[in-house]
Amino acid sequence: MSPIFSTLTQKKAILKTALKEVDTIIIGAGSGLSTAAELRYDDANFFTATFPGYREHYGLRTINEADFYPFPTPEEQYAYWTRLISTIQNYPPGKPYLDLHRIIRDKNYFILTTNTDGQFQKAGFPPEKICTPQGDLAFFQCSKPCTDELYPNNQMIQKLLASIGPHDFAIKPEHIPRCPNCGNPLIPNIRRDNTFVEKPWIEQYQKLIELINAHKGKNILLLELGVGINTPGIIRYPFEHLTLQRNNTFLVRINLKTDNLSLLANSDKAAIIQADIGPLLEELAKEY
Ligand SMILES: [Zn+2]
Repeated sequence: MSPIFSTLTQKKAILKTALKEVDTIIIGAGSGLSTAAELRYDDANFFTATFPGYREHYGLRTINEADFYPFPTPEEQYAYWTRLISTIQNYPPGKPYLDLHRIIRDKNYFILTTNTDGQFQKAGFPPEKICTPQGDLAFFQCSKPCTDELYPNNQMIQKLLASIGPHDFAIKPEHIPRCPNCGNPLIPNIRRDNTFVEKPWIEQYQKLIELINAHKGKNILLLELGVGINTPGIIRYPFEHLTLQRNNTFLVRINLKTDNLSLLANSDKAAIIQADIGPLLEELAKEY
């Protein structure tokens, strides 16, 4: 296995070299990148500050917990979604995202991310270069769904938020947003079950495949940032497979935790950089 580089200077050097020698960069980003941007979905303090009273009322401790909590009524579910989406939408672009943008903005790149918080778009990355196969909190979809249409929800969320008192845990039933096509409730476009509208994201995924096919024989860097082990089929395994299958393809995996390369042990086409993503990107961005 490739060495785990020890100093920040060494880590920066390996990343810088990898970035220099490529024609195309494919970013694979997971929740670790948003954690580095202080969007801590598994942090109790962040949750308590964002959702006052929810711990006492429901026994919930983190956003990750609340996302899968069966709220007793639809009105309470919508109050939670409203507060979550509003928080995410009002959150400024995180420093690691801005630094990453500075580093790769002039290069040929594409982004595949399980993050649904819109941080890439806020940092200046164009939506046409981003695929979010787990969905995007910026959109509602029909709950049935009767159509593959996605509806930007910013204005609906702001209206809903204005209708909830600070100590309310529910919206009014008549405020539940409705599908303009069939009248069923609108829900966030987040993958939860087989009602998820994924056609727009499959179309984006197709662009990624086309990009990879168009660069046969060229150098491709697969840059994995803060990807956890919960859903390895989305980024980790495809990146490792692609690295194995193709010449001129190199994988750099940056992760805070001690990590391994499932398929690429002993390969010289992959490197692990065990590092806090924030300081690493910050140091490198100074050179761009
Ligand atoms: Zn509908």
